[in-house]
Amino acid sequence: MLDLILRDATLPDGRVGIDIGVEHGRIAALQPHLPAQAGREIDCAGQLVTPPFVDAHFHMDSTLSHGLPRVNQSGTLLEGIALWGELKPLLTQEALVERALAYCDWAVAKGLLAIRSHVDVCDDRLLAVEALLQVRERVKPYLDLQLVAFPQDGVLRSANALANLKRALDLGVDVVGGIPHFERTMQDGAESVRILCELAAERGLVVDMHCDESDDPLSRHIETLAFQAQRLGLQGRVTGSHLTSMHSMDNYYVSKLLPLMREAGVAAIANPLINITLQGRHDSYPKRRGMTRVPDLLAAGVPVAFGQDCVTDPWYSLGSGDMLEVAHMGLHVAQMTGQEAMRQCFAAVTTTPAAILGLQGYGLEVGCRADLVLLQAGDPVEAIRLRATRLAVIRGGKLIAATPPATAALQLPGRPATVDWSRG
Ligand SMILES: [Zn+2]
Repeated sequence: MLDLILRDATLPDGRVGIDIGVEHGRIAALQPHLPAQAGREIDCAGQLVTPPFVDAHFHMDSTLSHGLPRVNQSGTLLEGIALWGELKPLLTQEALVERALAYCDWAVAKGLLAIRSHVDVCDDRLLAVEALLQVRERVKPYLDLQLVAFPQDGVLRSANALANLKRALDLGVDVVGGIPHFERTMQDGAESVRILCELAAERGLVVDMHCDESDDPLSRHIETLAFQAQRLGLQGRVTGSHLTSMHSMDNYYVSKLLPLMREAGVAAIANPLINITLQGRHDSYPKRRGMTRVPDLLAAGVPVAFGQDCVTDPWYSLGSGDMLEVAHMGLHVAQMTGQEAMRQCFAAVTTTPAAILGLQGYGLEVGCRADLVLLQAGDPVEAIRLRATRLAVIRGGKLIAATPPATAALQLPGRPATVDWSRG
């Protein structure tokens, strides 16, 4: 007798009519017509079951702080950074924890069960670090939270940033972050990449830097990051987040850069909602989109994930923790409307970020953790199209969130009484 069976599921790889058997929190069987019984059965009715959504790039220390202490009037990145600087001294640990937990509840309802969050270490009190370490423990039963030590004001530019970053790692923060394009000069940026990659190599940690988040076609920090990854043997352990300058770079230069990134085992994270709103602000017309070259990176063999980055904070007043909204925007901005490309956009919010985060037991195979999301959609493309309802969110075999299906009860003669729009 199994604990749970999901009957008649469609899987993201296109398999249909699959039964998923769960025992002791793990997937125990995955096949059509599973000849077994369980304490609980869920009829998926041919709808899509996916492993949970994963957000590879987020800022949980600033989330839900929109309007504190004032609203970002220009809506620009630089006013956002200045505004965060005004808010930081006013933060309390209790408020940080409360907002982060509220966001995690929201995330779970959306089937988002793993988040890599950057946490600003440029505050000598390390208030946000301590708050998010506490949150990481509290949400562990239902959400994997990975933390990146992020020197928002620049590890060289800000006096105590490097010492604080090391303290944050000592306290248990998981990943080494950086922001080379925010250092004072290109040389300082390159130096910061070297210092931080060496620190990660020494401590056996992975690296995820905000890198080249600008419209500058000559920004070269991703090249330096890939070079250092290769030099220090960090292949497969280094990620460049944003990489928006690649949008503006010379094509010949990019033809050299892409193979370097692949050889260095560097992954990329684009943040479509934020990149499309914050980049190209100095352009009149034509206006650049600013998101990194997602199809080119994928074609070159570089893994690309999409991140949410911000939800109602100094940089962005919108967002909802819905990774299907993120995939939807990424698909549009990158013009990834081909059938395979749309599936790659679904992977960019599920399996690809799971690999970047190094999540253990993630996936739809026997032995994987029974972390599953049942969507009101027939396949990954329909899921993106509809930002589909999360009918059931399961963690370790237990139902932790559910949303009723979207339906419309029509009273018109000759029409069915209920129309399920996902079946249209
Ligand atoms: Zn970010």
